[in-house]
Amino acid sequence: MTAPPCASAPLPEVYGLPWEQSSGRACVACGKPLTAGAVSRGHLRGRHGVHVLDVEVWCCPEPEET
Ligand SMILES: [Zn+2]
Repeated sequence: MTAPPCASAPLPEVYGLPWEQSSGRACVACGKPLTAGAVSRGHLRGRHGVHVLDVEVWCCPEPEET
């Protein structure tokens, strides 16, 4: 078995997520920079006091085939 593709990988906690991932610039699963065709993984829910930290995260469109 290989690792699951990014689109089905477990989502991390929003806390401590690198900026590139929380801003949708990098895959939330593998951390690679995203270009066209990124797939939305929905929102990670986070809250810090009165501040809502929800972020929309994205992942690679498909597993790489080499
Ligand atoms: Zn990825």
